[in-house]
Amino acid sequence: MAMEFEKDTLDALAKALRELEKGFAPLPECEARAPGLERMPEVMRQVAEHLQDNYPYFHPLYAGQMLKPPHPIARAAYALATWINPNNHAFDGGRASSAMEREAVAEIAGMFGWKTHLGHLTSGGTMANLEALWVAGRLQPGKKIAASAQAHYTHHRIASVLGLPFVEIPADARGRMDTKALAARLASGEIGCVVATVGTTGTGSIDPLPEILRLRDRDHFRVQVDAAYGGYFTLAGNLSAETREAFNLLGQADSIVVDPHKHGLQPYGCGCVLFRDPGVGALYKHDSPYTYFTSAELHLGEISLECSRPGAAAVALWATQKLLPLEPGGEFARGLETCREAALGLAKRLAADSRWLVPIAPELDIVVWAPRASSVRLASELSQRIFDAAAKRGLHLALIRLPGSYFPAIPADSVENNEAVLCLRSVLMKPEHHEWVNRILELLDAAYRDAKL
Ligand SMILES: *Cc1c(COP(=O)(O)O)cnc(C)c1O
Repeated sequence: MAMEFEKDTLDALAKALRELEKGFAPLPECEARAPGLERMPEVMRQVAEHLQDNYPYFHPLYAGQMLKPPHPIARAAYALATWINPNNHAFDGGRASSAMEREAVAEIAGMFGWKTHLGHLTSGGTMANLEALWVAGRLQPGKKIAASAQAHYTHHRIASVLGLPFVEIPADARGRMDTKALAARLASGEIGCVVATVGTTGTGSIDPLPEILRLRDRDHFRVQVDAAYGGYFTLAGNLSAETREAFNLLGQADSIVVDPHKHGLQPYGCGCVLFRDPGVGALYKHDSPYTYFTSAELHLGEISLECSRPGAAAVALWATQKLLPLEPGGEFARGLETCREAALGLAKRLAADSRWLVPIAPELDIVVWAPRASSVRLASELSQRIFDAAAKRGLHLALIRLPGSYFPAIPADSVENNEAVLCLRSVLMKPEHHEWVNRILELLDAAYRDAKL
């Protein structure tokens, strides 16, 4: 049977739209001018045709990068809000949606145990991290930002945008920050903020937060947790004991970044930055007294570096969290647990197959693996061929370069190219992936045989 998109929510949208217009019924009638409407069907047909040129991100056989469809309610609520098109820069531009943003963001903060916080939505994780590092730079002028070699590349680039010096801390063979190396760098007193990644984008690894927080007690730096991808997993009930311990300490960070558009079922354009101390709001606006920012009447535009922001993104997030509250044991949490189960299932089957090497047991829902080969170069070439062959068979994977030291079983090349192994990578971030692990393995097996020919 052919794939079909869910369309029933279009009816729910039309119904909600009729409800929305009731609120404005007292207004005198006015005909909206939207030129060209009669040509719209034809252009929309062209739009649909153009959009066919995409990988099927919404389908379980897309098991590559960090992409998943928004929940239908997020899509519908976002669309509904665009009839008003509120701007969450200030209450004047988006009264209801600003209130909804504050509520939804407080629920995210509550996930980490924060009863008070300062925070808001951003266009994405990059902007959210930029604000967190900007605040760190303002509070610790001239000091360095430290992040691991496996942290998102954005931190290095953001530091350069902000004019802050940056140090890269090596990662261990599980893709986690090497805290011995961090401790050594801290000794000089040059580091003002450590970025701890809770769920690296590459391998889903969790930096050792307990150790980083112990070092903070000694050396007094700020801790920014980049949980853009991993943050929601704090709701999952099936993490390893070590991963759970890190998540339980997340609330001790000075700031946290989470992307609702990664694992929060939102369309793109929805990141979130949270500060534990609401007082950092004073940094955003010099002439406002500290207390202004703790009052209930803050204007989101006064605590955000971005000015205009889509109220629709806040409405979509609010609606999603109303439908699927951020609770351990709830339906939303079960979705995350199922993704992790899928990743564990795939990793286990790969590790049991002598053709594959799985260097890191999945902590969240990312699996990385490489074909066993007699050299780093041959393993990398084979990964590339398997990746291409799998795509031809309709299975879409991703590629990642990992240090050769992660693969003691693959001999380093004597001459060149022994520094990194090109590996296969799957982010199994759709709960549907769980039922598709067998099919994914069948296609991978076929792709391996194609690549070996
Ligand atoms: C995705 C991601 C980012 C960047 O976020 P965008 O929403 O893509 O701007 C930063 N850090 C981590 C850990 C990520 O996974």
